[in-house]
Amino acid sequence: MTTHVLTLNAGSSSLKVGLYPADSGTAILKGQVEGIGTAPKLRLDKLPERDLELGGGHRAALHAILEGISEAVPNADIRGVAHRIVHGGPDRGGSRLIDDAEIEALERLAPFAPLHQPHNLAGARAAIEAFPDALQVACFDTAFHRAQPWVNDTFALPREYYDKGVRRYGFHGLSYDYINAHLAQEYPDLHAGRVVVAHLGNGASMCGIKAGQPIASTMGFSPADGLAMGTRTGQIDPGVLLYMMTEEGLDAEAINDVIYRRSGLLGLSGISNDMRSLESSDDPKAAQAIEYFCARIRREAGSLAAAMEGIDALVFTAGIGENSPTVRAEVTKGMGWLGIEIDAEANTGRKTDITAPGAATRTLVLPTDEESVLARGAQEALSAS
Ligand code: ADP
Repeated sequence: MTTHVLTLNAGSSSLKVGLYPADSGTAILKGQVEGIGTAPKLRLDKLPERDLELGGGHRAALHAILEGISEAVPNADIRGVAHRIVHGGPDRGGSRLIDDAEIEALERLAPFAPLHQPHNLAGARAAIEAFPDALQVACFDTAFHRAQPWVNDTFALPREYYDKGVRRYGFHGLSYDYINAHLAQEYPDLHAGRVVVAHLGNGASMCGIKAGQPIASTMGFSPADGLAMGTRTGQIDPGVLLYMMTEEGLDAEAINDVIYRRSGLLGLSGISNDMRSLESSDDPKAAQAIEYFCARIRREAGSLAAAMEGIDALVFTAGIGENSPTVRAEVTKGMGWLGIEIDAEANTGRKTDITAPGAATRTLVLPTDEESVLARGAQEALSAS
């Protein structure tokens, strides 16, 4: 009989799941509970959407999902569960098995990722309770970047901060892991070279990967660094934060609100954090927000290419990277000095390789699949056990 692994991705108000055969990277069922804490709804492939009762948080959400799975896939035999955990701290450079002690250790990292870590771990605790006999594996968004060189891992703060864990962790590691493995399989020549991956979603970051190894990332200590995002500032002069504190009397919570929720595309446009809405707006502020977003991506591409001493490929991925020809065209405009030039027809024609004929650097559009990386984490743990 087929055995299965389950992937769980617990956010503040959602719990996403995937059910995979233990020997395949293709999900047989995907779905989520969204609106946890407000108006929870269960959406699973193959089943009609249903409203859930209020209250109960992630634990109740997981139980609703498991009931749904047993209806949709009655013979599901779940032997491994993989959890997306945003922060693994300085030492976790790969996925690992979790139990109550490991969860306690990960809880101590919550100050590094206060918006995500507690929710991720609430999901893990609920799953341990629901599947006491299954292997539980944590896969970290920070893990991919842990092997990056020290100069790109540290800030120029007094030395003791590095030892306390104040480092450039980088995030979106599951996505980079997926793209890196995909390149190794489908584009071995590019994988052996220097690749800039642009993960452009509501959260956005870029990573330089050389010969399959992480070199530098635009996200740093927190997922607010680097590119402008839907509602986050991206890179900002620390002097601005000091100004907000001393001149405007903002406290940590108020600054957090500005940095994470009121800035980025939303802050610049005053209209929306959503790229689709901005692209369809006539307001000049929407166009300016897109211009800033793309200009930062170009600058960071140059910076990452410098860190790798060159670039052989630029990869676009995630919601905006995969679906917006406008952003891809605007970003790559003026990147001829890096050998980057795209083919306009391929760009609008949903092609994978959008490199212009004769361009020295390849430009690819690759859909990411973070869930399959989670599934692989559980599958590898199962075959090792
Ligand atoms: P998250 O970081 O929440 O996972 P996604 O990777 O789903 O985000 O990306 C969401 C972003 O992708 C939104 O800004 C959305 O507008 C944008 N997006 C999705 N489809 C398109 C499209 N066809 N054209 C432009 N932007 C798009």
